[in-house]
Amino acid sequence: MGDVRSHYDDWLCPFCGAVATRETQDRVLCDSRSCSCGAIGLAAPVVDSDEIVDDALGVFGVQVSAESRGFDHLLLEDLRNAGVEVREGQRTRVGEGFWGEYISLWFRRPHGAESG
Ligand SMILES: [Zn+2]
Repeated sequence: MGDVRSHYDDWLCPFCGAVATRETQDRVLCDSRSCSCGAIGLAAPVVDSDEIVDDALGVFGVQVSAESRGFDHLLLEDLRNAGVEVREGQRTRVGEGFWGEYISLWFRRPHGAESG
């Protein structure tokens, strides 16, 4: 595997306003950083933002309803229903053309909401 990481570098956490610097420990496909406040940022090209949602569902172990599959806004609703906060991060152009516009979404599960 080659290096598929982008040069997305706007890891400003929308929850606490700090710049997230930690590598995310969870297994994710997207570019990712973890913030000291507990939030996880995931970045992907705007046209590929379903990968962000996929990664978030995996990280938080959220079960999705059958009718949500394939619909990002419904999947995000499933995440919210599971107690995960979702916020939009920085939208940045990191390359040329269609694939160059990146978006980040941030996810955080409030303290105490974790089960097990
Ligand atoms: Zn934060």
